[in-house]
Amino acid sequence: MQDHLIKATADGIRVFAAVTTNLVEEASKRHQCFPIATAALGRAMTGALLLAANLKTSECVTLKITGDGILGRVVADANADGIVRGYVDNPQIDLPLNNGKLAVGEAVGKGMISLTRFTGLKQPFTGSAELVSGEIAEDITQYLSISEQTPSSVGLGVLIGTELKVLAAGGFFIQALPNVEDKAIDILEKNLQTLKPVSQMIHEGLDAKGIITEIFRNMNVNYFEETDLQFKCQCSKPKIEKVLISLGKKEMASLIDDGKTEVCCHFCGEKYQFTKGELEAILSSL
Ligand code: ZN
Repeated sequence: MQDHLIKATADGIRVFAAVTTNLVEEASKRHQCFPIATAALGRAMTGALLLAANLKTSECVTLKITGDGILGRVVADANADGIVRGYVDNPQIDLPLNNGKLAVGEAVGKGMISLTRFTGLKQPFTGSAELVSGEIAEDITQYLSISEQTPSSVGLGVLIGTELKVLAAGGFFIQALPNVEDKAIDILEKNLQTLKPVSQMIHEGLDAKGIITEIFRNMNVNYFEETDLQFKCQCSKPKIEKVLISLGKKEMASLIDDGKTEVCCHFCGEKYQFTKGELEAILSSL
């Protein structure tokens, strides 16, 4: 199944649902993640895609989860066209299972969640809130309620099989519109109580539309456009050169002294090779 996101409304409630299995698998491979990091990064990237889905073309968001746990920061960039990238500071960490589940909350720890919206028109807007559990979906829900005064419900899930393979990943984002009636909220709440975990639904073969059908059972649903999703980084050798330039003379000189000629993009793990001559040319241009 190609990764995708679909939007729908029903009786004054809006929902976005996404299937992100392939792009989470790609991120996991690129960063050589152990399962906890795959789960955290997959949830964050899916969350960023759902939050970006409401933006206009070429607008984007950066979701940052900065906890004091052993995982370090979890960062995801996504835009309204369904492009996402992300990384975690320490992809190769491990913790014992917590009640049979990956200990994502413990690995993230206590700290802050922040969301920056780049609209292109004005200065980027950043809001933040304290982490509730480090499990990411709850943290995004809390952020939206505190920082943006928008009550919402977010579900995110990544299911990992043997040999670190991502079996299913995805999520949903539900928001009540101002004209919603109490009756619709009651039906929705009942549906959510019996809703299976999102990764399980996807593993059982549901697509994003199928997930929405489950969320909006017994409601009048209108489906809107579907967007393909993919992991893609905007890095290139010229952009990496700019990063090198920003390091300054001293750092550049010590890179050359160390004989280091490979530079790795933080966001996607892509490796760029520089010859000693190229590095020296950058240094002399400073
Ligand atoms: Zn990159």
